[in-house]
Amino acid sequence: MRLAQEMVKEVKLGVDRLEPVDGFGQSNRTAGFVFRPTCVQEIRDIFALAQEEGRAVTLRGAGRSYGDANTGAEAIVIDIQRMNRILSWDCESGVIDCEAGVTIEDLWRYCLEDGYWPPVVTGTMYPTLGGALGVNVHGKNNYCKGTLGEHVLEMDVLFADGTLTTVGPGDELFYQVISTAGQLGVIVRVKLQMHHVHSGNLSVYAESARSWNEQIALFERFEHDADYMVSWVDCFGRGVESGRGLFHAAWYLERDDHQSLIASNQDLPSLILGFFPKSLVWKVLKLFCHRVGMRLINWAKYRSGCLLGNRKHHVQSLVAFSFLLDYVPDWRKAYAPGGFIQYQSFVPKEHAAQVFDAQVRLQQEYGLESYLGVLKRHRPDKFLFSHAVDGYSLALDFKVTEKNRDKLWEMAHRMNDLVLGAGGKFYFAKDSTLRPEDAEKYLGESLSTFRLLKQKYDPDGLLSSDLAKRLKLHR
Ligand SMILES: Cc1cc2nc3c(=O)[nH]c(=O)nc-3n(C[C@H](O)[C@H](O)[C@H](O)COP(=O)(O)OP(=O)(O)OC[C@H]3O[C@@H](n4cnc5c(N)ncnc54)[C@H](O)[C@@H]3O)c2cc1C
Repeated sequence: MRLAQEMVKEVKLGVDRLEPVDGFGQSNRTAGFVFRPTCVQEIRDIFALAQEEGRAVTLRGAGRSYGDANTGAEAIVIDIQRMNRILSWDCESGVIDCEAGVTIEDLWRYCLEDGYWPPVVTGTMYPTLGGALGVNVHGKNNYCKGTLGEHVLEMDVLFADGTLTTVGPGDELFYQVISTAGQLGVIVRVKLQMHHVHSGNLSVYAESARSWNEQIALFERFEHDADYMVSWVDCFGRGVESGRGLFHAAWYLERDDHQSLIASNQDLPSLILGFFPKSLVWKVLKLFCHRVGMRLINWAKYRSGCLLGNRKHHVQSLVAFSFLLDYVPDWRKAYAPGGFIQYQSFVPKEHAAQVFDAQVRLQQEYGLESYLGVLKRHRPDKFLFSHAVDGYSLALDFKVTEKNRDKLWEMAHRMNDLVLGAGGKFYFAKDSTLRPEDAEKYLGESLSTFRLLKQKYDPDGLLSSDLAKRLKLHR
């Protein structure tokens, strides 16, 4: 058997080795030299190769960040998805130890039958632990359970010089590596505390909201009690109906229910409405993927939310509630060929309704309404590049075309100003439009701390990404 080092050394970084590497939104198409290591030693060898070749290194998990946090044009891209072994599982304590390429899906499939669910999950089950901690993801329970990083007991980090370090919540470095988007070191192993559940189902309450004020009032009503909260916003709602949408709160069920804990019983159905193959849904979506079509779809969703199941509870599986966006495979293809960007801003609670209202009005003024709006409640955390605030976030999906690109970016910059003026923040996983001065403003002192750490842990600046370059993070 040949050593990993010999194999990596033999690689010639010619044009024929370039592979397409996109953000999830596919609005920034790049190519990189992709390596898929299977162990820590291979990553060390890839760093050595990068040093020799004078190439930057970009870390990449499942590529689910929407923009350019996981891309590096003509860089060496380390894709950690093959490092996906579960190293140990203690079904008594709910502690799992695994390689960083293990995904959220792997976690719930492995642990659910023993009555454990990941403490924080994103709107899709495909992110890897390394990628999720790179940006420190949040879920629909951010206001009560914090970010994923808050549930990590220990992790191994590999630095560009080949040093491997174990860090935990008692170490400052722990809060610095998590959240800094793969710019300080590679997370290679994670020990995580899973959350105990009795049932694989949730009790879900739905209520339609007619305005921003009604939305916020609903979050305030349920925030001390519900295990999850999220609301959908129709960004085509105008005037007094700005902010209208459909709020959901959900609670774990306390009753033991073995059947619902069997992973295969959680699988999402392959048919929608019992007859339509969901693999074809994106093609139908594509027919509606323009301003008029999306106005209609948003209107129909809002009206049906007012009529069906309004102010009622229903039971829904953890998977169906958590990973709604995974219901429709390949849905992003509906945005082809220009792709889309997601814009998520985080605003302190006192200003949230006002800032989001102004953002939506701006979109309507530009004729560039978001096709999907999602409102969530957050709490602050102490990670270096934390995106969370004691307030709310609004995530907005915008279609990108050759024609609208400049206008869209101009509008995003005006929306940034509204957020910054209110003391708000942004999130690298969802960013495509921030300027270096915006990052300077919202990160403040944290950015200076980061630059000192960069000199200490990666003095040659090997770790980079298109986002790090765009925002001049290393300067
Ligand atoms: C449909 C959808 C729904 C989503 N919902 C949510 C949500 O509810 N909440 C939320 O917070 N996010 C959400 N996201 C964003 C997503 O969770 C994050 O972008 C997450 O980082 C994706 O993980 P990944 O493995 O794909 O990482 P990538 O996108 O590949 O990488 C993310 C970042 O981590 C760095 N990185 C990758 N691997 C490592 C490593 N081993 N060590 C250190 N750094 C590393 C990368 O350089 C990059 O900066 C959603 C994304 C999609 C597509």
